[in-house]
Amino acid sequence: MSTREEEYNFETLALHAGYEPKDDSNNSRAVPIYQSTSYVFDDADHAADLFALEEEGNIYTRIGNPTNDVLEQRVAKLEGAEAGLATSSGMSAIHLTAVTLADGPGEIVSSKYVYGGTYHLFAESLPKYGIETTFVEPNDAQAWEEAITEETKFLYLESPGNPTLDVVDIEQVAEIAHQYDLKLVVDNTFNSPYLSNPIEFGADIVLHSTTKYIGGHGSSIGGIIVGPEEFLLKARTEGYRDLGPSQSPFNSWLFIQGLETLSLRMEKHSDNALRVAQWLEEQPQVEWVKYPGLESHPQHELAKKQQKHFGGMICFGIKGGFEAGKELINNVELCSLLANIGDTRTLIIHPASTTHEQLSKEEQEEAGITDNLIRLSVGIENVDDIIDDLENAFTALK
Ligand SMILES: *Cc1c(COP(=O)(O)O)cnc(C)c1O
Repeated sequence: MSTREEEYNFETLALHAGYEPKDDSNNSRAVPIYQSTSYVFDDADHAADLFALEEEGNIYTRIGNPTNDVLEQRVAKLEGAEAGLATSSGMSAIHLTAVTLADGPGEIVSSKYVYGGTYHLFAESLPKYGIETTFVEPNDAQAWEEAITEETKFLYLESPGNPTLDVVDIEQVAEIAHQYDLKLVVDNTFNSPYLSNPIEFGADIVLHSTTKYIGGHGSSIGGIIVGPEEFLLKARTEGYRDLGPSQSPFNSWLFIQGLETLSLRMEKHSDNALRVAQWLEEQPQVEWVKYPGLESHPQHELAKKQQKHFGGMICFGIKGGFEAGKELINNVELCSLLANIGDTRTLIIHPASTTHEQLSKEEQEEAGITDNLIRLSVGIENVDDIIDDLENAFTALK
């Protein structure tokens, strides 16, 4: 890497960090896809040294791959972390982080406003392996402290949280974590590394579903974990190697393409979402709007401190509850009805009847999912077309 890398800004690092043409034997300007399962050892001693972790190098793509390595170094750089590890999905990044930090049975204290899959992993799947989770209101410092026990292995949060878009005071939770000698893990998927770097506010480990804004085009599933070198080496040589959630080099290459335009896209997603949120606030069919960029958002000031812009995610409550929510979704044309976020295209979903449907009523309430909640992932289309589509859908409501 260039000797001037330390001076480069985000946009430049997103294009150059972790790779130079001389890293490739053909001087390829674009990062090559190393679509290879394995790597030839120089001789028997070289092979033995690699297996003994006495020398760094490639052995087998389930453990490490040169294209994945560029993605790992690049995201680590953009997040201000020492190292990274690319996984097959966001969920595998969360699972691997949890089992590596827990290192056996134990407890997690988590914000209750987390991705539906994360909630299910913590509440239903991990308990089968002796890892139990207590969910807390994330901006209540006392709630975190009260939930911490001798068995607690780490603290976990998302900001803004999915899908209620609560912004969490990362500095406050990091202080509590460190007071008890625990690590704070932050899922930074909604912000992407461009809008916020949780490590700046004290987080120890940051992870992303790269499926979302990093990939950015709704084409591939992936995840990444960044944090201290020592933690990632443990994760790679234990859970990553044994459980096998490795990323395909082709997907890593697509995420590298995504990173190149991440800053441009996040600016546009944020501009469009602010306009849509402001418009929604004025509609008579809308009961409430939650967007970190609106002054009405309960953590608007905190969002201004923690984020560069306010992102592409909005949620709002439609008058008429569950049925009106489903009807609105049937009325849109441009907005795609699907279970993803962070696509270039505008996406819409009614969580109560879809992503959070597997949760009980109590669990839905606990996670902040009301019957009338609509989640919008605002894309980078012309914003007037997005607003027109929503306007037509509102007008058609019975
Ligand atoms: C989508 C998502 C995940 C899970 O990622 P996958 O790539 O779908 O496995 C985790 N956290 C957040 C905030 C997400 O939006």
